[in-house]
Amino acid sequence: MPDFLDALLTTADRVQLANTREVLAAVLHESGLAWRCRNDACAIENAEERSHCTRCGYDRSGRPMGDLTPSRYGVPARKWSALRRALTAFFKEQGVEAPTAVAFRSESDGGWATAEVFIYYGGRRTAHEKFQRGSAVWEALEAPTRFEKPVHCEPMRVALPH
Ligand SMILES: [Zn+2]
Repeated sequence: MPDFLDALLTTADRVQLANTREVLAAVLHESGLAWRCRNDACAIENAEERSHCTRCGYDRSGRPMGDLTPSRYGVPARKWSALRRALTAFFKEQGVEAPTAVAFRSESDGGWATAEVFIYYGGRRTAHEKFQRGSAVWEALEAPTRFEKPVHCEPMRVALPH
């Protein structure tokens, strides 16, 4: 959620007029400036331009953030599972909470191991350093690359189990 929406709703909480937050959320929703997360456990308002809920990562249709495989790919399920396991193990070894998903965006045809890396916690995306050459994740990224090298700026996303 952009800062101004956060600020509006936080202000609504602070002034504590009856139902202010609900009224403001309804106005944002009706005006098309926000959409409500369909995850019942979350249900926050999200800015219109967001594709995923900032808190929980569900998409606008109410589905959890899932895998995004390049369209022409035929990577076998076991290779895809190996990549998911390597990523999960990486974050466990780092001693940090596994992100909701790890996304890759290739700037060249060099392969997925050299692609830009982003991590999602809910719908919040941040850049992440690339994985070291020779690491388990690097090796797991070579498997999909062998099937077909990524196209410029093509996205790929691996959802991690929680
Ligand atoms: Zn949500």
